[in-house]
Amino acid sequence: MRHYKLIHVLLVEDDPGDAGLVKTTLQQARDAHFEVTWVKSINQAQQCLLNCQIDALFLDLSLPDSDGIATLHRIRQLAGAIPIIILTGSGDTDFALTALEAGASDYMIKSDFGSEGLTRAIRYSLLRANMEAHNRLLVAALESAVDGIFITDREGRIEWINPAFTRLTGYHSQEVVGQKHETLTKTIGPEQSASEIIWQHILPGEHWHGETVNYRKDGSQYHEELTIAPVFDTKGQISHFIGIKKDVTERRQMEENLKRLASTDPLTDLPNRRVFMEDLSQEWSRVQRFNNLQSSLLMLDIDHFKFINDNYGHAAGDEVLRQFADILKAELRTIDTPGRLGGEEFAILLPGITTANAMTTAERLRKRIEATRVNSINGPIHFTVSIGGTLISPQDKAYEAALHRADNAMYKAKDAGRNQTKWQDLL
Ligand code: GH3
Ligand code: MG
Ligand code: MG
Repeated sequence: MRHYKLIHVLLVEDDPGDAGLVKTTLQQARDAHFEVTWVKSINQAQQCLLNCQIDALFLDLSLPDSDGIATLHRIRQLAGAIPIIILTGSGDTDFALTALEAGASDYMIKSDFGSEGLTRAIRYSLLRANMEAHNRLLVAALESAVDGIFITDREGRIEWINPAFTRLTGYHSQEVVGQKHETLTKTIGPEQSASEIIWQHILPGEHWHGETVNYRKDGSQYHEELTIAPVFDTKGQISHFIGIKKDVTERRQMEENLKRLASTDPLTDLPNRRVFMEDLSQEWSRVQRFNNLQSSLLMLDIDHFKFINDNYGHAAGDEVLRQFADILKAELRTIDTPGRLGGEEFAILLPGITTANAMTTAERLRKRIEATRVNSINGPIHFTVSIGGTLISPQDKAYEAALHRADNAMYKAKDAGRNQTKWQDLL
């Protein structure tokens, strides 16, 4: 046998006959247990609501201390979320609708109910009150979420947004409800827009998750991690989409800064040794693959740099390194890669350049540096560089072979008196 939970009902009714009828009808209910507390006025109802646990409330609108829809308004305020079922003498539909709009859960015509009808009215009202409480909880959760959340219809037109959406994008509800979400989603790459990619995923019913670059209402840019999930109706058709936007700008910037820190030399802003070696290795692989393609490698070492440090100070030495790097950046093509290998040692990758042109470039750099003066508190600093060059050859077993030849050439330039360019052919 099923055990029914005891349901506490407050009956607000000044007519003893009507009240008795409701009480006996509820007591006759076979599939529920009701405990009925009967009061005759709003004042008594208020006392009771303050002091007892009430699940549902029957309300006659004509009471000694209140009459009509005002009674409902007053009780509504006192009852909080407790469902209120109106007891009415007539079947006036207009009035019933007014009562429902004013917050009643249901209404019953006094002459016209049996125990089944009353029980059902209470049960439905309780169920609805539960669902409403649950929905309020869900809405509160969505509204307090840190991430921007939006709901669209199946064409992508926004129906609802949470406050975090406004904080993130700058758009208020009235500005975006009815708008297509894709008008707020900007381009990912030159070929395909973010919305095209997203639609390709979500229309067949899949989730989409990815990063896009978006613009706020004020035009400022931000990186957004976006998730869009379809919502299906009972027939399995997509009825809505739910989207979650997370602002990942800071994380993105941090990642880019870290990447930059890990790949560039902080003094000269040139690629560091690790990155240069990766580029050289890639260039060597390319040369291996396309047999007739040739590239060159230059090694550069500033002459008597120790002397500069010793005579002008370490800070002046740093300034020489910086200006040296600036000359490389200014004199080279965008596809050439200069790098700082360490100390006052640099290297340059010249893709698609063979011996004669590489030597010309090296000589141009050498002369440019020879003609440069770096200002210091102890007067202008004059400095020179020794350069060694070689081809990156398909015959090289590894990129280190080219590195070794270029290094040899550079030492030949040092041995020959410095401020020179030397070339080392393949053996
Ligand atoms: P060589 O003509 O044979 O190349 O002589 P050199 O004096 O240039 O070469 P050496 O390798 O003897 O000295 C290089 C010096 O560069 C030693 C080191 O203290 C200095 N150095 C290395 N890194 C830096 C730096 O970042 N800043 C400064 N100011 N000096 C550095
Ligand atoms: Mg040196
Ligand atoms: Mg050195």
